[in-house]
Amino acid sequence: MRKEFLPFTAPAVNENDIAAVSAVLRSGWITNGPVNAEFEQEMCKYTGNTHAVALASATAGMHLLMKVLDIKPGDEIITPSMTWVSIANMIVLAGAKPVFVDVDRDTLLVQPEAVKAAITERTKLIVPVHFAGAALDLDAIKAVAGDIPVLEDAAHAVGTFYKGRHIGQNGMALYSFHAIKNITCGEGGMFITDNAELADLMRRWKFHGIGMDAFDRQNRGRSPQAEVLAPGFKYNLTDMQAALGLSQLRRVDEINAKRRELAALYDEYFQEIPEVLPLVKPQGYDSVHAHHLYVVRVNTPKIDRNTFMAELKKRNIGTGIHFRCAHLQKFYREYFNFAPGMLPATEFNSDRICSLPLFPGMDADDVKDVIEAIKDVLA
Ligand SMILES: *Cc1c(COP(=O)(O)O)cnc(C)c1O
Repeated sequence: MRKEFLPFTAPAVNENDIAAVSAVLRSGWITNGPVNAEFEQEMCKYTGNTHAVALASATAGMHLLMKVLDIKPGDEIITPSMTWVSIANMIVLAGAKPVFVDVDRDTLLVQPEAVKAAITERTKLIVPVHFAGAALDLDAIKAVAGDIPVLEDAAHAVGTFYKGRHIGQNGMALYSFHAIKNITCGEGGMFITDNAELADLMRRWKFHGIGMDAFDRQNRGRSPQAEVLAPGFKYNLTDMQAALGLSQLRRVDEINAKRRELAALYDEYFQEIPEVLPLVKPQGYDSVHAHHLYVVRVNTPKIDRNTFMAELKKRNIGTGIHFRCAHLQKFYREYFNFAPGMLPATEFNSDRICSLPLFPGMDADDVKDVIEAIKDVLA
């Protein structure tokens, strides 16, 4: 048995990252400032887009977007239930209704037909997820969306490409730099769009509704008498965090290549373990996967998912659940009367899903340890 505990994830922090954060601490400007601006520019370059707004988190970005798009009670927003619940939470906080659509059983991606069937005259926004770093079929989803805006939840998708281009083009995408994401700020997020007006509004709402922040006022020659245009939030990212994100972004291809290598090893091993089903890669279009998570489904009468996870833990292997579906969590069941049976593929996965260790600091022997522990649990 493995001697040391293998967590399911660990941030890839190196000495360059530490030096970059230290440099900010020594600079005399530690909240959002020049490093935020550089991080925004570099994310635009990497993802091939024009406007970026660095934020305290992706959840903060969703909260802001509800204001920017003037989402009101009675409005509907289409999103999967098989995702992190923060997107649905922000929809509910705006007084709107999350309209949960089922996902494909084996890719966990939102399908265009499901979106089409869920659209009503009250639909104001569609928020599909590039799940685990797999690219959505964006052309097909945007075709059914028509004039309804689409926000790509790109929390898992720095380094996800669709038909030769980075995801998040021609519209809006929201990235997360939470501690477990492919690149991290500790906590952080970024809204990226090709729409200058949207970006300006997000920037205004993220900082008190003033429309410019302290850095702009001091360094960009703008009026220090700036006024509040509407009461806004305080969702800016510090330069200490931006420095970590920027330093990580400079080696994102290296980080993702390591993830890809480890995921390919898992894929090979699981061909001979029929009780455990890895996710299937998207079919029918050209894409590059960011391998944010290595998700499997425990699908055997021998053992349930929770026992499987507990048994792996006894063998020093950490795991996670991404995700327990949103529509069956206590608040959603009680407030919206959502009940089991509503979203069969989502619920099938919610009961069986399990994320195995996957992070750039692992090696082939670690993957082998995970596989040996799984074989032992199933024996
Ligand atoms: C992490 C995550 C979020 C939220 O990101 P934060 O930066 O933690 O707010 C949203 N959607 C998905 C799919 C996520 O995994």
